[in-house]
Amino acid sequence: GPQIYRSEIDDRPPEQLALVGELRTGIDKDQLVVYYQPQFNMVTLRPVRVEALVRWMHPTRGLLSPGEFIPFIELGNLVELLTEKVLARAIADCRRWHRAGIHVDVAVNVPPRLLRHMDFAESVFAALDAERLPADALTLEVTESGLLSDVESALPVFEALRERGVRLSIDDFGTGYSSFTHLRRLPVDEIKIDRTFVSQMVENEEDAAIVRSTIDLGRSIGRTMVAEGVEDQETMQALLDLECDLAQGFLLAQPMTGKRFLRWIDERAAD
Ligand code: C2E
Ligand code: CA
Ligand code: CA
Repeated sequence: GPQIYRSEIDDRPPEQLALVGELRTGIDKDQLVVYYQPQFNMVTLRPVRVEALVRWMHPTRGLLSPGEFIPFIELGNLVELLTEKVLARAIADCRRWHRAGIHVDVAVNVPPRLLRHMDFAESVFAALDAERLPADALTLEVTESGLLSDVESALPVFEALRERGVRLSIDDFGTGYSSFTHLRRLPVDEIKIDRTFVSQMVENEEDAAIVRSTIDLGRSIGRTMVAEGVEDQETMQALLDLECDLAQGFLLAQPMTGKRFLRWIDERAAD
């Protein structure tokens, strides 16, 4: 409740409190910037979707990565606001790409606790309607660990989103100790294997085994399998051999601004 929140705030060093304030005004002043990192179909090597990754263009500190300011988002109770902003931007950009004949969809990261409330599904539908983007062009990435804490309240929200056609993906899979029994019950389209396993799979036999069995099981229950953190050609080949569906990582493309993404698409088309 508000009491607990207040005392948490009071325990923070003044510098951190100042940042929470700056973040709040920064959001109002449109200082959040959404970068996009392409995800590729492994067989055709076509970019089929981009993941929206937020940054904060701080007036004096420069471009800050989410790891540097997400804690202040939590502290300042700005999670809903940030998610709404990123969703609106990503949906608007994606709609603009589609109109320009660029058939690339978009994925947005959503903190799992937002998926416990039907309000969230309503706000996603409103955002899609505002731009008239087809629901199936949007994927929501939800981390595995946060999902497990309250599956019962999340299920109806998941079902409402999927009924409309929104795609759901479990992010950072393998880090949250969920069982495959659990997984089968979750109405998700896609499983994204955590980059800690993927980036080590060529050198480390144990990580390779985890990736292999996750892909086998995920595919056997009809889920699309995505690998993140693909940094070299050996890993790419190993994933292709395992019949992983989509890949994302520095080997293939870095996160980039929307503007840069359009140029990147153009350059590829020219090749
Ligand atoms: P994530 O969802 O796992 O996002 C992927 C992160 O991996 C991104 O870091 C991306 O830049 C990085 N990455 C991509 N390819 C590679 C690679 O080949 N190797 C390595 N080592 N890393 C790679 P980023 O942008 O710093 O984001 C970090 C985390 O911040 C994200 O992890 C996500 O959990 C969170 N985040 C980012 N944007 C948002 C957002 O809009 N909302 C929320 N709630 N969280 C966000
Ligand atoms: Ca993600
Ligand atoms: Ca991830």
